[in-house]
Amino acid sequence: MTCDKFRLQIMEYLDGELGPEEHQEVERHLAGCSACRSELDSLQKLKEITSGMQFAQPEEEVWKMYWEQVYNRLERGLGWVLASVGAIILLAYGAFHFIRDFLLRSGEPLLLKLGVCAAVLGAVILFISVLRERLFIRKTDKYKEVEK
Ligand SMILES: [Zn+2]
Repeated sequence: MTCDKFRLQIMEYLDGELGPEEHQEVERHLAGCSACRSELDSLQKLKEITSGMQFAQPEEEVWKMYWEQVYNRLERGLGWVLASVGAIILLAYGAFHFIRDFLLRSGEPLLLKLGVCAAVLGAVILFISVLRERLFIRKTDKYKEVEK
């Protein structure tokens, strides 16, 4: 193989588009020709730089955004699960003590007991209502995102 023929095939060689026989021929020439080796070297570097500018960086940013979104969703999901579990435990614990200590054991008048019952029940209903509203808003937000 001559240096001229090598220069015609150098780009195909770099892109890995040569057939196995041509590829071997190029490698044989490279092994014995330092001028073509250094030319291949500089072309390779140039190729890395240009492909780095065109593809690697935007791709990296796209992945970064993608993972940030995934992380945000996980974070919010986990936050909601923990908040819900915590609220349920607190409510159950509070209800248990409320029934045992206040309604069954204390000597307060019946009217006061009924009043406290109504206030607590109202607060629980409001809490559940707000929670449902939040969940509903989150769902409609998701649909808006899909539409975009
Ligand atoms: Zn050569």
